[in-house]
Amino acid sequence: MTNSNAVLYIVATPIGNLEDITIRALKILASVDVILCEDTRMTKRLLTRHEINTATISYHAYSKLSKVEQIIQLLKEGKKLALVSDAGTPGISDPGAELVSIIRRELVAEISDGSVKIESVPGPSALTASLSISGVPCANFIFLGFLPHKKGRETLFKEIVSSQRTCVFYESPHRIMKTLESLNTHFEFISSSAVGDYLDKPNKKVTVCRELTKVFEEVVGGSAGVVLDYFSKNFDKVRGEFVVIVSNL
Ligand code: SAM
Repeated sequence: MTNSNAVLYIVATPIGNLEDITIRALKILASVDVILCEDTRMTKRLLTRHEINTATISYHAYSKLSKVEQIIQLLKEGKKLALVSDAGTPGISDPGAELVSIIRRELVAEISDGSVKIESVPGPSALTASLSISGVPCANFIFLGFLPHKKGRETLFKEIVSSQRTCVFYESPHRIMKTLESLNTHFEFISSSAVGDYLDKPNKKVTVCRELTKVFEEVVGGSAGVVLDYFSKNFDKVRGEFVVIVSNL
């Protein structure tokens, strides 16, 4: 029989600066029975910094169904669990969405009678952090996560450069230069073609947010060509973590 206190907390953790964690998140991480971690070693750094000794188990993108069943069993036993990813908000280009979906399906009765809860413990995400300091219009935007490496990639670039909405996506240091080159090529095409005339030649800006909340945090904005030129000339900065925003000026 299900105990009535089971909770799965979805806890946001820092995206760089280990002090970027809410008081509530720290209290919850210290008080739950188990923390489900994308990478237990990564999370241990955070827990050690905040003197938290809670038990951890791994839950990551390649976890088997048996791990999900184990988590469901813990909830059925009335345990309190917290899910964290390596950085930021679980489920946002990180493991979590599928686990929550399965739990909502498998424990539908327990969730509806309130004996199992899934609660958010909001906090940092590179998505919101980047938009908040970019200065670009973001009353509405499209978030694309990581772009596909091959299939559909060029089609997406076409959509991004012609979109009237701000588009945001995550990028790795290995692909950022290729991405900036592709954006530049697509922008050159659009502004020299009938498509560009049709779109009234939108004035587009590319903003790259790098290493947010860390020592080398920086924001570089301008035309795709200008941003590409900047990183070509400052190749030592083609490292770390990147968010790319394409917007109307
Ligand atoms: N769940 C995370 C979130 O809420 O932001 C995102 C996880 S995703 C696996 C990792 C990607 O997020 C990185 O490749 C980078 O694109 C972006 N990212 C994470 N931390 C960042 C940071 N400090 N500065 C810039 N981008 C970051």
